[in-house]
Amino acid sequence: MNIRKFHRACIMPLLSLLLIFSCSREQEIIMSVKGKIPSDSMGITLAHEHILVDFIGADSTGYHRWNRQEVLSKVLPYLLEIKNMGVKTLVECTPAYLGRDPLLLRMLSEQSGIAILTNTGYYGAIGKKALPPHTWTESAEQLAGRWIDEWKNGIENTGIRPGFIKIAVQSDSLLDSIHEKIVRAAALTHLKTGLTINAHTESAAAARAELKILQNEGVSPRAFIWTHAQIAQLSDHIDLARQGVWVSYDNVTTDSAELKKYVYLLSEMKAHGLLDRVILSHDAGWYDVVNPAGVTFRPYTAIFTHLIPALKSHGFTDREISLLLMDNPRKAYTVRVRKK
Ligand SMILES: [Zn+2]
Repeated sequence: MNIRKFHRACIMPLLSLLLIFSCSREQEIIMSVKGKIPSDSMGITLAHEHILVDFIGADSTGYHRWNRQEVLSKVLPYLLEIKNMGVKTLVECTPAYLGRDPLLLRMLSEQSGIAILTNTGYYGAIGKKALPPHTWTESAEQLAGRWIDEWKNGIENTGIRPGFIKIAVQSDSLLDSIHEKIVRAAALTHLKTGLTINAHTESAAAARAELKILQNEGVSPRAFIWTHAQIAQLSDHIDLARQGVWVSYDNVTTDSAELKKYVYLLSEMKAHGLLDRVILSHDAGWYDVVNPAGVTFRPYTAIFTHLIPALKSHGFTDREISLLLMDNPRKAYTVRVRKK
């Protein structure tokens, strides 16, 4: 075979295969407060944490309520602490009207070297007090329009784009019309943006109600994170994980009874072959705007100092731990439309 023929027969197909492979890898991104980054670079990820929360309510909250420099000096040491433990990415789950501050998050990301994700969406829990008035007057399509606009154009002229959708519903199995509307808006936003839906949901009944709405809109369970699943029963985790839902165990603390519960849940999910549907975090922090001096800041470290050693003593391998802290959050937060 002469060189030209060899080139045509072997090198060209190989090159096009490589091109196809690299293009499909290129599409795997997450959106951080500093812009797009390859999903591959996410590394060890804390999938549900908070930097700052303001529980005062949608009618009174705003950036005037805190001083960014003051928050930065309080929070930065906690981020540097986890950076030393190998954390590369932190998913910040505080939605708008509850203390979301994209500029503060970008400052912290720049100074800590940790990638941070922020979000779009509304928080309907805590008696709907974090919902702005237009939630009652607008349709699901209009709410989704606002969230899709944040994805396309950035949040409030900052140029910072959301990396996922955060919503929060009540615990009841029957969601009222406002909650239903918020979940529908999340579904519509997902289909247009590929952003994953992280839903604060305390009961399995509410998780099933959300999933039904999402599926009616044509969204795959794989686009849905059942946040705070640890509050519900293992049998429901197993059932929803089998359908493709991400099960989030996200309140790891140093408390020994709690740690036992996490080891039990994770061991059972492993025994059922469902470890690849689980994500882990602390739901920790945070700078509390309502009472900055009075509320203890919970560090983001219990997974590394307590849970991982406990899991290892129960036979978990390094591979399984990196599945929980790297592979799963990467897959969960990669921006991709997932249709039913
Ligand atoms: Zn949270």
